[in-house]
Amino acid sequence: MDAIKLLELHNIKPSMQRIAIMQYLVEHRTHPTVEQIYESLSPSMPTLSKTTVYNTLKLLSENGAAQTLTIDERNTCYDADTSPHAHFLCKCCGRVYDLPLSKDIKKVEALEIGGHYVQEEHYYYKGICKYCKRNDA
Ligand SMILES: [Zn+2]
Ligand SMILES: [Zn+2]
Repeated sequence: MDAIKLLELHNIKPSMQRIAIMQYLVEHRTHPTVEQIYESLSPSMPTLSKTTVYNTLKLLSENGAAQTLTIDERNTCYDADTSPHAHFLCKCCGRVYDLPLSKDIKKVEALEIGGHYVQEEHYYYKGICKYCKRNDA
């Protein structure tokens, strides 16, 4: 799906900068940080500021167009894939990978648990990724 449609679907007015950031997230499924997105986009968008990138990502998350991951406490990262999946952080290279959820875990969005209204659920795994493990051996 293209970035403009995604924004409209989540009631976000598609400005130039929002489209560029959404597009970047859709194309880069590497869970980029604010810094990474800013550094990639700023050469072609000189008016873009880091604050705008941050605020846009916050808006995307709040409207359900992306999700915010705090798996790495030093670097908040973002994911355009809002379907339920787990994340794995490699303590060696710092990369964040997508992992499938086991089948018994269902989507909890808009679910009520114990009277609380749950909107997000996060599964974080940490360890050494297969690439780092291989280099180590
Ligand atoms: Zn690694
Ligand atoms: Zn992900």
